[in-house]
Amino acid sequence: MSEIMNVEEIFGKNVFTLGKMKERLPKDAFKEVKKVMDQGGELSMETANVVAKAMKDWAVENGATHYTHWFQPLTGITAEKHDAFVTHPDESGKMITEFSGKELIKGEPDASSFPSGGLRATFEARGYTAWDITSPAFLKEAATGAILCIPTAFCSYTGESLDKKTPLLRSMEAVSKQALRIVRLFGNTGATKVTASVGPEQEYFLIDEKYYKQRSDLMFAGRTLFGAPAPKGQEMEDHYFGVIRERVGAYMKDLNEELWKLGVTAKTQHNEVAPAQHELAPIYETANIAVDHNQIVMETMKRVAVKHGMRCLLHEKPYAGVNGSGKHDNWSITTDNGVNLLDPGETPNDNIQFLLVLACIMKAVDVHADLLRQSAADVGNDHRLGANEAPPAIISMFLGEQLEDVVKQLVETGNAESCLEGGKLQTGVSTLPDLVKDATDRNRTSPFAFTGNKFEFRMVGSADSIAGPNTTLNAIVAEAFCEAADILEKADNFEVAVHDLIKEYMTKHQRIIFNGNGYSDEWVVEAEKRGLPNIKSMIEAASTLTSEKAVALFEKFGIYTKAELESREEIIYETYAKTINIEALTMIDMAGKQIIPAVVKYSKVLADTINSVKAAGGDASVQTELLKTVSKKLGAMQKALNKLEKEEAKGRAMTDAKAQAFFYKDTVRTIMEELRTPADELEMIVDKEIWPIPTYGELMFEV
Ligand code: ADP
Ligand code: MG
Repeated sequence: MSEIMNVEEIFGKNVFTLGKMKERLPKDAFKEVKKVMDQGGELSMETANVVAKAMKDWAVENGATHYTHWFQPLTGITAEKHDAFVTHPDESGKMITEFSGKELIKGEPDASSFPSGGLRATFEARGYTAWDITSPAFLKEAATGAILCIPTAFCSYTGESLDKKTPLLRSMEAVSKQALRIVRLFGNTGATKVTASVGPEQEYFLIDEKYYKQRSDLMFAGRTLFGAPAPKGQEMEDHYFGVIRERVGAYMKDLNEELWKLGVTAKTQHNEVAPAQHELAPIYETANIAVDHNQIVMETMKRVAVKHGMRCLLHEKPYAGVNGSGKHDNWSITTDNGVNLLDPGETPNDNIQFLLVLACIMKAVDVHADLLRQSAADVGNDHRLGANEAPPAIISMFLGEQLEDVVKQLVETGNAESCLEGGKLQTGVSTLPDLVKDATDRNRTSPFAFTGNKFEFRMVGSADSIAGPNTTLNAIVAEAFCEAADILEKADNFEVAVHDLIKEYMTKHQRIIFNGNGYSDEWVVEAEKRGLPNIKSMIEAASTLTSEKAVALFEKFGIYTKAELESREEIIYETYAKTINIEALTMIDMAGKQIIPAVVKYSKVLADTINSVKAAGGDASVQTELLKTVSKKLGAMQKALNKLEKEEAKGRAMTDAKAQAFFYKDTVRTIMEELRTPADELEMIVDKEIWPIPTYGELMFEV
């Protein structure tokens, strides 16, 4: 047996938790920290110095030599620049490590190379990092040694946000403030804050490092750009929830241990639908911490895989023809006196506060369906949303039988007198208990589903940061709450007013509810009839950020300025063009240097065979046919390759980011397909010994 792992002992070992702060800080300092955490405001420099020293001492005791302001630039991943705790030695040559409050609170990385979408001219390239006191510092153990990571926000000299964290924090404050107005209307005077909670389920693929290193597409683009389907895919449904293979099990065990040490509540693990695809879900937590932790999860998944001779692929679509990876973003809002605003209770029809919240969310999602869809857009996710895979690019809401019935009653009669019971599920076996059936049954095809006491936003891509989706969710719900509160606070008769408002919102926005099969073609037609947007790609969704409606929303609640939105739109075009450019160049390289030469070699083998067979007086007709087919497909490949080289160069030379992005989508990507198709057909024909890259079978089944 291997060493016994004690979860209670290792959990949070590498985190400077509230508990550790309490132990190490003088009472007054701790009180001040706690106050700023709960209510906002700033630490005095004196206290900041005390906290910094305690944090450093703890870090150094645990082997840290450096600290970093850990932040989340608009690349979607995290950034860090390490500084040692080293100071000037004294006269005797002795050095005492130091870390000041100033260094803790504010950093000035020379971070001029991060995308800023024009927000920052280079002459004022300075970016500042500011400590997010609500997310705990942690120690990252890597080959560099232990590094003290301080979660921070990243802003420009003029205060514009250059990261994903700042708008998220702003949106959390907005939804808290507006939700408080709602609960106050219902007599909840005890709550002082409403917190958005998030639980992201992370999907990923594992692959043997040996094969990974033989595929430049995986190394450069994170996905396969060529590859014929393996004889077996996911059709047997034998991988989903299947027994976890030993090698993957060992990986999961290590991954959990690393995550627990970092205070991430890794909870659920299982095999996913596609071969070599898996999932990890933590327990939900406050939105900004969940965002930080999801970044840690993705990073740790990759790091631990390398230790196990594997690689972890977070791309939304590493392989054509099998399931891609997403990230279900579970979201709810709860008051600090313990009321989950999304908890319907036993009889939702009587729960007026819940019905108002639900009506507001229906309105928010309907009015801003375009923004919500945009929030889940990234380059890889274009292969899932609206492509041949679900979830669809159309935003709709699933409520389940019970709530749908309540909404229907409210819309039709203005009253919801009854509610469908969950009922019992009879197992029919006397020794098994009968189970209480959930009244909110599941619909796996809905992009935005109510699941008991939370909404599950299922569109998000596996590689993407969840900061964006949650910022948008908080923002749109804050707006709906605000508009409802504006009306209700002024109402003479609250009972009547709230009743009317719920009915009005639900009636007006019921088109957003869809309980059917979201993957079907009928739904696309039906959604169009209902006037719901169907935005097919990341770059088509980008301009929703700067629509009048979006600017008004985000500026009203101080989440993004117009300039910040414009910069983000610009970055989307840049990111898209750069990503497709890398993919195109990788294809050119693989086709020209690996695949075409291999096919040429195979043609020679065939030609030689034909000659020898003929010379021996045999019948070489099959070989001749084969050679003809191979030559034809080779010709198609060469033609597409030439075309791709030409158009890629054209695309690269373009200077307008938006035009360039659309050129890559409409022209370059089409040619990439033209190059891939004959190559994949050739893979099915050419001798395996000659084929230069590992096959889908090897990539997916030899983990
Ligand atoms: P599944 O959707 O796969 O059935 P679960 O219902 O167990 O999974 O939950 C998935 C995720 O949702 C987990 O991360 C869980 O912690 C999170 N979650 C559960 N309740 C809430 C809530 N009230 N708010 C936000 N997230 C939640
Ligand atoms: Mg789920």
